Amino acid sequence: MQTKFVMACSECDAHNYTTSKNRQNVEKKLELQKYCSRCKRHTKHSETRLRK
Ligand SMILES: [Zn+2]
Repeated sequence: MQTKFVMACSECDAHNYTTSKNRQNVEKKLELQKYCSRCKRHTKHSETRLRK
């Protein structure tokens, strides 16, 4: 079963990327350096679970 996540900028909280992955791998929170179009530079993005 796939779970959807958003990668949110840790500086401005923009949701810039979505990922989906298997529930079994969800123990660790991902943190990645990614480009934020709002900050206009690379920032740390952390995984946030989508709730709906
Ligand atoms: Zn940002």
